[in-house]
This record gives sequence, C-alpha cells and structure tokens, in this order.
Amino acid sequence: LITLAIESSCDETAASVLKNGREVLSNIISTQIDIHKKFGGVVPEVASRKHVENIDIVVQQAIDEAGIEMNDIDMIAVTYGPGLVGALLVGLSYAKAMAYALDVPLVGVNHIEGHLSANYIAHKELEPPFVTLIVSGGHTHLVEVKDYGEYEILGRTRDDASGEAFDKVARAMELGYPGGPIIDRLAKEGDPKAIEFPRAYIDDGYDFSFSGIKSAVLNYLNAKRMKKEEIPVADVAASFQDAVTDVLASKAVKAASEKGYKTVTLSGGVASNSGLREKIQKFGEEKGVDVKFPPPVLCTDNAAMIGCAGYYRYLKGRVDGMDLNAVPNLQITE
Ligand code: ATP
Ligand code: MG
Ligand code: FE
Repeated sequence: LITLAIESSCDETAASVLKNGREVLSNIISTQIDIHKKFGGVVPEVASRKHVENIDIVVQQAIDEAGIEMNDIDMIAVTYGPGLVGALLVGLSYAKAMAYALDVPLVGVNHIEGHLSANYIAHKELEPPFVTLIVSGGHTHLVEVKDYGEYEILGRTRDDASGEAFDKVARAMELGYPGGPIIDRLAKEGDPKAIEFPRAYIDDGYDFSFSGIKSAVLNYLNAKRMKKEEIPVADVAASFQDAVTDVLASKAVKAASEKGYKTVTLSGGVASNSGLREKIQKFGEEKGVDVKFPPPVLCTDNAAMIGCAGYYRYLKGRVDGMDLNAVPNLQITE
C-alpha cells in the first residue's frame, strides 16, 4: 500500500511517500525558517502564502524521488490539526483535490499523533503499548500508547511547551530562531552546574511547567545586564538545558516504570536535543526501561510521520470525506 502524505501545519511544507506505513520511499521537507527568522517566530499569514508557493513542488519531488507514478498512490494522509488554520488549509485542500482526482481514500491525521508515530518508522520492531514523551514547539505531553491510535494523556504542560521555553530563552539571549538547536549546540561548551535554575517537578504527578524556569533565566539575564556583567552564554544554555531535561527525562522514565511499560519513546522537535537524549538513556538504564527516539530529521516536522500515522488510521477503518476541515486545536485523544 503506497501512501502519499502531506504536512503543512506550521512552517514546514512537507510531503512523503511510504510503503506499508513504515518504509519511507521519500521525505521532502521545505522549511521556511529563514523567512520567519527575521521576525523571531512564525508569522501565520506569511507561512500560508509560502505553503501555497511550495506545495506543488514539494509533492512532485516526493513522488519523483520515490520513483513512483501518480497512479501508484493508494491513499493520501494529511495533517488537519493542530496547527495554524491558514497553513493547515493549504495542505488539506491540496490533499483533498488529489484524493478526489485519483479517487483514493483521504485520511486526516493529528499532527501530534504524527510526531509519536515517527518512532514506528525509526524502529521497525516497535509495537504498542509503550509510553511516549512528546516534546515539540507547541506541546509537551506524556502519553500512554495503548494501541495504534489509542491514547491516554498522563500529563501535560500547565503553561509553556518545552520547545517554546527553549525558543523564548534563546530569544532573551538574542541567539536567534529557532532557539532549541542553538541552545543545544552552546550547551556542549558550557557547564550545566554553573547556575542553579529551578526544576519544576510540581508534585509527584506527570504534569510539567516551564514558565518558572523561563522567568528564572530572564531574571538572571536582567540582573547581569543591570550590573553590566558579561553573560556566560554557554553556561546559561547548559544550565537551562540541564534543568529542563532533568524534569522531562525523569518524569518520562518514571511514568513508564510506574505504569509497568518496558519502553519509553521520545518525539517532537525537542526530542532531537542531545542533552535530553543522553539523560533519558541514562535514567532508562537505571530503571530498566528501554529508551527509543527517532533520528533528528524525523523529530521536527515532516510528512513521513504523518503518512505512518495515517496508515494505521486507515487500517482501523478511518477514512475522511471531502468535508474534512482544519481543526487548529485538535487534541490527540479526539
Ligand atoms: P507542534 O508540533 O507542537 O505543533 P512544532 O511543529 O512547531 O509544534 P516541532 O517541529 O515538533 O514543533 O519542533 C520545533 C521545536 O523543537 C522548536 O521549539 C525548536 O526550538 C525545538 N527544537 C528543535 N531542535 C531542538 C534541539 N536540538 N534542542 C531543543 N529543542 C529543539
Ligand atoms: Mg517548524
Ligand atoms: Fe510539530
């Protein structure tokens, strides 16, 4: 079964061709980062326009690179939420038109379900159940994957998403956008124990909070600036990253072991953070929990993950009609 998948929920226009849901024949990602960079974040209207310009080229490239013909496509998977409504509509309209023209099923996919499904592509032997930590630009969820398409949210952030915290802290340090990869790089040169930033464990539960540490970093930076002292950028990056990843990694491993699961996976853009990967591996080994994560290219936005999630939805009998609409705040449990 050949799936063509389309993703346009934020600032990446992406298309992918997959065979039987887990074998990626092509994975084309056109990112708009360079365009949004000068504004310090994604400008929704600009994103929509760029998707319109790019989508035809990206889809064609995905088909060419996969070495298939249009007529080989058996189903079309597309992100219909969550995300920016104008951006989502570009991919969704394109997918509908293609599904209609080719007379193949259209399957709407939840972007966050896509993120966690990247693990199925990266680890061919992975099967539910397991626990996954989804850490992306807009979400931080600890989820119990009971079966394909069957989820229970164990915990979530009460304020900022983890990626958002990385981006905001990087912005305050005037490092550029997106901040996650820059902080990751700088942290390697800094001392994670240099500055004591707060770790918000909240209670014994699985919820997260990142606004406190963000404020602590901002206060630290302001104090340094007031005193006209030099900011030890690498140490701030390393200490911030250490605090955030301590909480993320320990709660994820704790959830897996308390719920009796042998495996915990990471997904979403922040899952490519090298500090988080190292730490969760270490905590996992200590608790006897197997840790898995996708390669970085499958952590940040891509269409291969959407195709994989769409494939399993399709196997469960889910097909959408031409009336499928974009749902900007779609929940993973819907
Ligand atoms: P969502 O998936 O919640 O709708 P999104 O699609 O914008 O949001 P992703 O593409 O999953 O988010 O991830 C982007 C986020 O990941 C950004 O916040 C970025 O800073 C962060 N990120 C990317 N690489 C790294 C890294 N190496 N370390 C930390 N954060 C990173
Ligand atoms: Mg993005
Ligand atoms: Fe995403």
